[in-house]
Amino acid sequence: MKYGMIPFFIPHVGCPHVCTFCNQSRITEVSGIGYLTPEYITSTIKDYVDAFRDDKYWEVCFYGGSFSAINPNLQRQLLLPAYEALQEGLIDSIRCSTRPDAVNDAQLELLRSFGVKTIELGVQSMDDIVLSLAKRGHTSNDVTLAVKQLRKFGFTVGLQLLPGLLGESWHTIIKTAVEISRLQPDFVRIYPVLVIENTELAEQYKAGIYEPLSLNRALQYCSFLKTWFESHHITVIRTGLQSTEELDTGHSVLAGPYEPAMGELVTNGQWRQRIEHCVDEHTEYFNNAIHSIVIDYPRNLTSKVRGLKKCNIRYFEKIYNDITFTWRENNDIATVQCSIDGMVYVV
Ligand code: SF4
Repeated sequence: MKYGMIPFFIPHVGCPHVCTFCNQSRITEVSGIGYLTPEYITSTIKDYVDAFRDDKYWEVCFYGGSFSAINPNLQRQLLLPAYEALQEGLIDSIRCSTRPDAVNDAQLELLRSFGVKTIELGVQSMDDIVLSLAKRGHTSNDVTLAVKQLRKFGFTVGLQLLPGLLGESWHTIIKTAVEISRLQPDFVRIYPVLVIENTELAEQYKAGIYEPLSLNRALQYCSFLKTWFESHHITVIRTGLQSTEELDTGHSVLAGPYEPAMGELVTNGQWRQRIEHCVDEHTEYFNNAIHSIVIDYPRNLTSKVRGLKKCNIRYFEKIYNDITFTWRENNDIATVQCSIDGMVYVV
């Protein structure tokens, strides 16, 4: 069944301070939560679901702040209309996002009692120096404890990562990948860092303290993380921020790898890394020059393997310009094969 999100944004509400990279009002195009009256929430749910109740799995989502850190009375006020809709069978579930240091027993009991099913934690990194430089106010150990807490209460657990913060490197990316896979969340979202106007990170960028990721490096990090998580049976449900008018006009994004087609390019990057890994392993093992490589793929993988606007074909022809490449569709195989001078590898 298709998924239907009914989003309510609560920019920065509940946050004990503002993280260096964060400007939820700019990202979500919402400021303040005065509009979120019970009547508004109820009528918005009805507007979304309307005549399409049976067409989608409907979920109310509270995003953009630290939900479980909000004053409990305000949490109840926000949750009650969603909970009533859940009991009436209008929606199928409720989710919210929060911080790893805001998930004690009382906070989770409240969420569970109002029917919240899924909780997403803003984790960003599992490197304590990166977390500290981003002024997150929590450590990687808080993330580990938080995931255990969420499991204890039976929530579905999602973790949000933000590759490219100040202090990030391949070392911290790999550390984050390994530690997150040990936690076995139900899903992960990966949003490479963008420099948003009116943030401390924007000031650091203007002062030359912070250098944003290039699009190429962001794609390398995201492709690696996605492949790593998938190989550890963790679903990656999104790579890159959802395109909005505010982001697309460029008024908010001062710098960084904003790319509306990020998800597609990351999938292309995964195939690029897999093929490249295969070539590197072959070279290391046989230690002699390669003359020709044939890449075979079934039709359903054609665009993913060749890449958007043939970006993978162009990449290999540029980087490995002394090797003859052949790219061909082959519907007799189920996945990608890489034949290096006649030696066939399943990628
Ligand atoms: S990143 Fe999360 S915790 Fe930090 S200011 Fe933004 S919404 Fe609040």
